[in-house]
Amino acid sequence: MENNKSSQKMTSVFKQIFPFKWMFILLFVCLLSICSQVFAGQKTHMVFFEGEENELHVYRINGSLPGKTLLIVGGIQGDEPGGFLAADFYADFMLEKGNLIVVPRANFPSILKMERKINQDMNRKFSDDKIINYETRVVNVLKKLICESDCFLNLHEGSGIYSDKWETKFKNPKKFGQSIITDNAILEKSDPKENIDLEKMARKVIEKINLHIKDKNLLFHFNNHRTSHPESIHKEQLRSATYYAYKVCKIPAFGIESAKSLPLEQKVRQHIYAINGFLEVLDIIPQTPGIDLKKPEMQYMIISVNDAIPVVVGKMQHLKINKGDMIQVHDIVANYERGLAVDVIGLGNQFNDMKNRLVINESTRIEAKKDFYKCGSVFLDIDLKDSKGRKPLRISESKQNSMLRYKLKINGKLKIVDNYKHVTLLRGDKLVIEDILTGDIDPSKYVVNFKGFVGNTNNNNGEDRGFVIDTSKGVLMERYSMDKKGQHYYILTSLNKKEVGKIFINIQSQAN
Ligand SMILES: [Zn+2]
Repeated sequence: MENNKSSQKMTSVFKQIFPFKWMFILLFVCLLSICSQVFAGQKTHMVFFEGEENELHVYRINGSLPGKTLLIVGGIQGDEPGGFLAADFYADFMLEKGNLIVVPRANFPSILKMERKINQDMNRKFSDDKIINYETRVVNVLKKLICESDCFLNLHEGSGIYSDKWETKFKNPKKFGQSIITDNAILEKSDPKENIDLEKMARKVIEKINLHIKDKNLLFHFNNHRTSHPESIHKEQLRSATYYAYKVCKIPAFGIESAKSLPLEQKVRQHIYAINGFLEVLDIIPQTPGIDLKKPEMQYMIISVNDAIPVVVGKMQHLKINKGDMIQVHDIVANYERGLAVDVIGLGNQFNDMKNRLVINESTRIEAKKDFYKCGSVFLDIDLKDSKGRKPLRISESKQNSMLRYKLKINGKLKIVDNYKHVTLLRGDKLVIEDILTGDIDPSKYVVNFKGFVGNTNNNNGEDRGFVIDTSKGVLMERYSMDKKGQHYYILTSLNKKEVGKIFINIQSQAN
């Protein structure tokens, strides 16, 4: 109901913005093409009930080629870690063909408590349930996901070991462990030609799992609950998720049960063999390994000052310290784990200053890198106006004390230069404007232009950072020099086409 309301509201808003039908159609076509780009070979992560204890995370992974959609649900009962830990691996999966919907932890509170249920058994709430609680809301989301899938796996741990005949108290037809459960052998469709043989699907997968099991007593078996049959010994399953899938959504659904008593790793592995088996049966093809080249982004730097307890400083934040303080970057938090480094600009090592203890006497910037890619900065500010008395350490977003400073290299030698200062070079010196050191914003937002030099000849956007500027006679364009004689040049820094800084470059002739 709520959804309907909001979509009606949307439509009327669209009508106001796009009064003409053709515009609306155009917009729709645009959206469609964006959507298809986003969803082919992509993944999305949705969070339901965000901020609540029963937060529900849903991962959708779409292969670049179309195919079947498999829904994997783990942790519907919190004391069955074999299932939810296995599902976790598929949340980070990438696919060539077909789609996955992964809900690793359906019942997070019960997982945190390591108990089967909190208010009610979540796997007994899929039909005629009158009690409303958080489990109801999760079940309502799961019901939708089940009906939009082509196949559903509910990952469990079962007590004892299932056997189709009575062997012992622990191994008999009433037990669940080491079996793949269906609610019926055949899934009947309205057109009988479309009936699906659930038993055949399950047996194919069981064969694959059993290739990995050495102990004969632990082999997987097919376990048909015949849930709706008058003589079924598992009538409680009429209220389960797989029966909902079977009865309402009419899709193949299986309970995967590893025996509770087995070591955790073995249970997780068996679930993985089962999931991989179903992927194969459904012709859903994984990428091995999955490639996900997302844009590197630093979130936090963990920095200590004078060996005190480290503080967390966010991207583009300013850490205000005192002149002479010693800093050490312990780690950075980014959307990658490997290839991370930091450069305390103007100090320390040539490539990587991670864990390096460095004394800071002037304001500078610490740049985070993921391999070659600059993925975020933190500013180190020293308040020079009032150097009397030590000020407490502060982290701020403030724009104070953020004078621009430049990192230059002259014939390979580092030189830090303040804004509006003069630099004297000898004719023939090679100058590189490496970067802007301090300021309030991401240094890549500025344009730093050496007037009279063209860095990128293919695309003269005025940006000259990183290029070698040769000051030899006849290389620079004299008409752009301030004296028109090729002796006084300047570097102009602008932000949104407005000047924010300059460096004056005087080129002296080589002494004879
Ligand atoms: Zn269970």
